[in-house]
Amino acid sequence: MNTKSEDWWLDRVSLEAAVVQRADGAYETQVDSSAVRIEGGVIVDVRRGERVPADGRRVFDAGGMLLMPAMRDTHIHLDKTFYGGPWRAPIPGRSWLAEEERLLPEMSEQIPVRSNAILDLLISRGTTEVAAHCNVDHIVGTRNVERLLDVLRSRADVDWTVIAYPQHGLRDGTVVPLLEQALGLGATVVGGIDPARIEGDVAKALDVTFGLAVEHGAGIDFHLHDGGSLGLYEISKILHFVEATGWQGKVALSNANALSGASPDTVRVLAERLAAARVSVGTTVGVSGPLLPFAALAEAGVDVRLGSDSIMDILTPFGPGDLVEQLWILAQRLGAYDEWGIAQTLHYGAGEAGRWRADRTRAWPAAGDQASFFLTPATCSAEAIARRTPRRHVFHRGVQVYAGKDL
Ligand SMILES: [Zn+2]
Repeated sequence: MNTKSEDWWLDRVSLEAAVVQRADGAYETQVDSSAVRIEGGVIVDVRRGERVPADGRRVFDAGGMLLMPAMRDTHIHLDKTFYGGPWRAPIPGRSWLAEEERLLPEMSEQIPVRSNAILDLLISRGTTEVAAHCNVDHIVGTRNVERLLDVLRSRADVDWTVIAYPQHGLRDGTVVPLLEQALGLGATVVGGIDPARIEGDVAKALDVTFGLAVEHGAGIDFHLHDGGSLGLYEISKILHFVEATGWQGKVALSNANALSGASPDTVRVLAERLAAARVSVGTTVGVSGPLLPFAALAEAGVDVRLGSDSIMDILTPFGPGDLVEQLWILAQRLGAYDEWGIAQTLHYGAGEAGRWRADRTRAWPAAGDQASFFLTPATCSAEAIARRTPRRHVFHRGVQVYAGKDL
């Protein structure tokens, strides 16, 4: 029996307690071999340093493995991946947007197979929550949203949000009725794309997007690729609209590349406004390419999240579908080599469950937390990230959703 309502114990599971600094300067994570009880998909009891009581409930023996919070992928295009289909690499010299227009009908047909395959891969890597940017455009209309929603609604092993994403722009407003239709189908967030370079009229594009969101009570998530002063202007205008519409806490920026090249003073001012408006920033960290000013954003209290974005598709044949691997890259790009430095990257992939307090202790796991986590053979989260240790058992809302070898 393994259902959401089941009441069971996790025994001999290693829980991180604190990171301490030794006399020689090295950081060391203290862990407790513990027992954790799960009921109704929620953690209801955490007994640090104890074994399970003999109370007749089912026991899952973690064998000393580390408990890690499940990862959440806050930006992924599940409807456009080639994963799950034949191998193909981008054709050199092709405009990728034109290539996408050509291939969208075929890719759309493949959604039932490929989006399921990529979800299986993500879950096997410990991710059990996704925010899926799904194309709404003049080529497929709302077909991708319909097909993706069918897939997502058929699965109980992942939490999801669908963003109605106008990848090819609003096209003089002709895509707006399609976005409304997508919101009616089950998308809960309105997407947007470069209001200057793609839409050509920043104020008009933002007016339409915020108007739609407010009318439908939806969130907003903008893809912002423009760099330099143009990109910074777009971010500033979006913040103005957030403040004017009272949409604080409901807006996210994806990529926000302009922040990567901005001066420290500009970043500080914008970061304070982003934090005040509770606008989160999503990014993908690769081995090269722009890197957000993580330290400045963290200092201001901006919620920064990682996502896969494009993955094994027209844009890139790469993309591991593994947020722990992104943390591994992020730690290196931030120059985080000691145990405390690496551990502090965890929340970018796992959200609040992965956040360390200033005194180097963790609140997670605690009674009341959602029981979404994985077990991995590591002594601490820094090791799990630095060595990308295998995800042996993945649980979502108290139910085991993956076990065994890597896909
Ligand atoms: Zn994207």
